[in-house]
Amino acid sequence: MLARRSDKAVESKVVNIDSQMKIYIGGGCNSTVLLSNDGRKAIIVDTKYFGSAKKLRSKISAPEITIINTHFHLDHARGNKHYPDAFIISGNTNWKQWDFDTAYSRHPDKILDPGEDFDIHFDDEIVHVSDMGRAHSPNDLIVFFKKRKVLAAGDLIWTNRHPILLDKNVNLKLWISYLEIMESSYDVHTVVPGHGNISGKESISNMKEYFTSILRSINFPAELKKLKYQYADYSTFLFFGNFSRTVKVMKNEIRNNSI
Ligand SMILES: [Zn+2]
Repeated sequence: MLARRSDKAVESKVVNIDSQMKIYIGGGCNSTVLLSNDGRKAIIVDTKYFGSAKKLRSKISAPEITIINTHFHLDHARGNKHYPDAFIISGNTNWKQWDFDTAYSRHPDKILDPGEDFDIHFDDEIVHVSDMGRAHSPNDLIVFFKKRKVLAAGDLIWTNRHPILLDKNVNLKLWISYLEIMESSYDVHTVVPGHGNISGKESISNMKEYFTSILRSINFPAELKKLKYQYADYSTFLFFGNFSRTVKVMKNEIRNNSI
């Protein structure tokens, strides 16, 4: 989803995981970049948008580039157009939405379906791409760098901010189930959220607790009020990323019997 305006302020922030892996924070979304030992290949998870996408492009000189889009929302995928020769991996989706959000950039070369996994062997790293399915978008992927224990979670994890719930395919019940899988099946040391600061494994549990605490309190206004206060320091996004929005979406899901 669209990033907060204040992301611009931090777009130049780069976190070095090690000599080959860097995380470019903000400027649309967080982008994870892994460079091969010989400098010839790079894997980029999410390409940002607008000026930040261009800036990111200028930092990467490797001639062979693989892009993994955790989902197609414009703040994650519009930068794809700066890499016309890249090999692109993403989830199966509504291509009309893809075309709009990416400004008609090329469709992926490798298209995953929900539940499908794909591994890339990259020097001594194994890059595990898993298509979780629908939750924040029609199809959300996560990328796990097994050796480094780094999980690029896309917009399934937001740290210290309310998730933007705008896509008509949003499904919180499935979202919670994916967080449970991430908690139990991945030996994670570092989490790169789609938006917000890098953190440890606790950000998976925090995200799950955010949703489940609201779910537990959904019929108890006094409890919801307490929770709203508890999450008062979380960043918000106009209309679609705030406590009331999450409550509303959850109530809708309950009404439609999908939760
Ligand atoms: Zn998104």
